[in-house]
Order: sequence, then structure tokens, then C-alpha cells
Amino acid sequence: MPPAPRSTAPREAEPAPAPPPAPAFGPALVPSRFLVAVREAAEPLRVALFSTATGALTVLDGVAADALADALYAPGLLVAEGDLAPALLSTLRRGGVLVPQGTDELAPIQERYRRARGETPVVLTVTTTMDCNLGCYYCYEARSGARLETRDIGAIVALARERLALGPHRALHVDWYGGEPLLERGFVEAASRALQDACAADGVRYVASIISNGTDWPEDVEAFVARHRIRQVQISFDGMQANHDKRRRWRRGRAPQQGPASTFARAVALVDRLVRVTRVDVRFNVDAGNRDDVLPFVAFARARGWFDAPVPAVFQPARLASYSETSRFMRRRELPLADFDAIRAEVRAALDGVAVVEESEVPDGFPHPKTSVCAALAHGSAVLGADGLVYRCGLQVGEAGRAVSAMPGRSGGSARVGTDAGFWTDFDPTQAPTCSACTFLPICWGGCPKKHLEGDRHALDEQGRYWRTNLPRLVARAAGFASGPAEDEIPLAVQFRARPGLAEARGSDARG
Ligand code: SF4
Ligand code: SF4
Repeated sequence: MPPAPRSTAPREAEPAPAPPPAPAFGPALVPSRFLVAVREAAEPLRVALFSTATGALTVLDGVAADALADALYAPGLLVAEGDLAPALLSTLRRGGVLVPQGTDELAPIQERYRRARGETPVVLTVTTTMDCNLGCYYCYEARSGARLETRDIGAIVALARERLALGPHRALHVDWYGGEPLLERGFVEAASRALQDACAADGVRYVASIISNGTDWPEDVEAFVARHRIRQVQISFDGMQANHDKRRRWRRGRAPQQGPASTFARAVALVDRLVRVTRVDVRFNVDAGNRDDVLPFVAFARARGWFDAPVPAVFQPARLASYSETSRFMRRRELPLADFDAIRAEVRAALDGVAVVEESEVPDGFPHPKTSVCAALAHGSAVLGADGLVYRCGLQVGEAGRAVSAMPGRSGGSARVGTDAGFWTDFDPTQAPTCSACTFLPICWGGCPKKHLEGDRHALDEQGRYWRTNLPRLVARAAGFASGPAEDEIPLAVQFRARPGLAEARGSDARG
């Protein structure tokens, strides 16, 4: 071991002059397999040790901190009693940096994952229609006339109650989805009322959200939001007006007779009103064709006051990608991850101190160990398709053969149910060959399970690359390193140090 560095961990007091006697040492200690070390780029050259398993951050300084960080990555390191000063040893143990030799570090992550599947809040995604008035070139959904009808509402309420009964759930979140969900506004009005009434009768809290293109809202926007307890609205933009109108264009015969013809102008006018009453996630879909619009759009949104409105909007940069099997063609057009990350960095800089820029991987900006799963894995959640079929993931709606069950009362539904149900029941990244060996597992949980289902190696590799290239920045920021991290990237060998052969097999093209 190198000489002892000093600890400046916020959770750690300076070593007392006369420390209490150390507890019995027990087995030798080894570095945690979930440890990541990030150095500060410029003086005073501190080192942040981050445990992906516990989320603890230990900051060390002093001449030996750098050497200690290297030593902690060395294979086969054993720390015996007396190798380190007691105060430092205690800091490293509490921060999850050192663990007793022989500890099964995967077991608590497995347990946390299994518990999360049962305890993650219930989200019922209701696809009111597969129809849409816009024809975006990248849309992954198959357009059809399928839609939910008033006679389905009883079955929807029953489904919600059944899911709530699966766990200790006292809240229901309904996400209105489409197509464009508000093309079936009458259905939303009736179904929302029935679901709210059922929740009130059962003593269950009710909230809703909606994903909309923002072109066909009712006149009484504010009252609509209040009536349906909508706490969050996602409105997508594809650029400044010229680009947006070209990409988010009306389908033939669907342009409205009244009001602005520009889909951009309609969405902007809607957001102007929504930010006064509810949270708006302003999603900006970016690809190579509109990347130059991102910063002008950020300035535009800022000038309209969206980020200092009564309910400040959240900005969500999103990379247009191959979301589903029906949009595989997008793989050729999607921005490389490095380009997208560079754009996100520019957006963060432009909105620093002004607005929340949400990154889907780290919604609140810190890589917390996960304690919940996506709705597709949550036992209580379900996605109801406009075709009357029940799916696990919203991106699968309308994909033949991906449904896991059928809504009662819809004729012929069961015949169209696919064979994926077992995948969703059994999916466990803590047992997957690659993810179980990955240092990022507790903060990632395998990324998007749908990508595992589809065997989309490209997307899963990008997930690893995201953590390798972004975790240094996230850790450095949490540690208060003003000059940022010294490392641009965490080595592949560190990502897979629990199984070194895996990193070697993946080679220098840095797959993840
Ligand atoms: S499976 Fe993937 S796309 Fe579907 S809800 Fe989960 S994370 Fe999202
Ligand atoms: S980074 Fe990749 S290997 Fe690691 S847990 Fe996530 S998906 Fe699995």
C-alpha cells in the first residue's frame, strides 16, 4: 500500500488526536468491485472514490491520494490491519471503498432489484389511440384506427385495481399516451373521471401525466389540467420553427381549419400556458439534421420565460434513435453518442443555474444506486394498447406479438398475445452474464430491458459507454471539483474488473 493520504470526505471529520480504539479488524479488506476513482483535473488534485453500490462519495487529498486510487484498482490488493491509519481505514470502510474479503457484493444489489420490482409505484399507461394528426419521419409507431372506447373503461378501472392490489401501493399514476392521446379527448374525460372516482373510493392517491404533440388541446387548458390532475406534460420539439414544422408536419387532410397552421406555433402557445399550472418537460429531439437548432431553441425557450415560470419547465435533450423494431432505419441516422453528449454539455452550460436539464440516466443529476425499476419491469405497472392488448413497455404498443395479455372483453385479444411474458417476469440484470460483472450495475441495472429482449447489442454497448464517459463528470461535480475530472473516460478494464476476461474479450473498441 502507498503512504496514507488525508481524507476530506464531507462525511468524515478530521482524524481526532486520540482516536478511540479500533474495533476488531476481522477478515482482511479488499477494494469493492463497485468502486470508481475520479481525480480532480487541476490543483489541489483530490481524488473522489465513488461506490456505485452505496452512492457514498469519499474525497481524499494529500500527496498519496493519487497513489491510493491506483492501488485500489490493482488486482489482488489486500489491506491488513495496520496498513492504513485507523481514521482513513474507517472512512474507506464506511464509504464502501473497502469491504471484507469474501463479501458477496452482488447479493444486496439482487435483493434491492427484486424488491424494487414489487414496490415501484404503479403506472398505468393508457394508449387512447394509435392515430396521430402528425407524420414525423422518425415515428416508431404503426398508425392505425385502433382506439379505446367508452365501453372499455370498466375493464381499465378493473385492471388498475388489480395492479394496485399486487403490492403495498396507495397511489396510481395514469400516463395518457398515443398516437396523439388528445385526439380521443372525450375518452380521456370519461376514463379519467372513472379512474379518479375509483381511486377516491379506494383511498388511493391519483395523479396523471400526458405525452402530447401539443397541437390539439382543448380551449380550457388550465381547467383541463386541473380536472384531470395532470402533474406533468411532455411536449416535443424538433427544432426552431422551420425545422419543426417540416419534421412535425400535418398528415394529409389533418391540418386544422382554425388557429395557427404551424405545429411549432401551436406547441409554443400551449407551453406558454402550461408552465403557469403544471410541470412541462420540453423534449428536444435531436439528430444530425437539426443539431444546429438546439442552442437557438434553448435561447428561445429562455426568452419566453419557460424556465422561470410559476412551474419552471424542465429541458430534456433526446437523441432520435432506433426506439423499436419498426424504426430500425433510425440506426443509420442517429447521432453518435459522443456527439449527443457534446450537445448535452453545451445545453447544460447554456442553462447552468437557469433550468434543470434532465438526463434520462440520472434524472436528478447524481448517479444514485437504483431503488426503482422502469414501468416495464414494475409488477404493478401496465401499458394498455389502443388495440385492447396489455404490453409491458410503451414503445412496444402496436407491435404484433409483443403483448403479454389481453384486456377482458375485447374479442379475439388473447389470440394476438405473444410469447414475451416470461422474459419480463424473469429479466434480472444482476444475473445477466455481462451486467452482473459490471461496475456500473447498481446505478444502471442493465439500462433498457427492451434492448435486452431484442438482443440490441449496439444499444447495450452504448449504455456502458455512457457511464464510462459521463460518470467522471458526474462524480467530479458531486465532489465539488471545480476544474472537473482529470479522466475523460473510465477504462473498460475498470467497468469489468469483476471479470477481467470480459474486458479483454471486448477489446479496444470499448464495448460495454
Ligand atoms: S423497457 Fe426500456 S423503453 Fe420500455 S419503459 Fe423500460 S426503459 Fe423505457
Ligand atoms: S453499463 Fe452495460 S453492462 Fe453495465 S449494467 Fe449497464 S447495460 Fe449492463
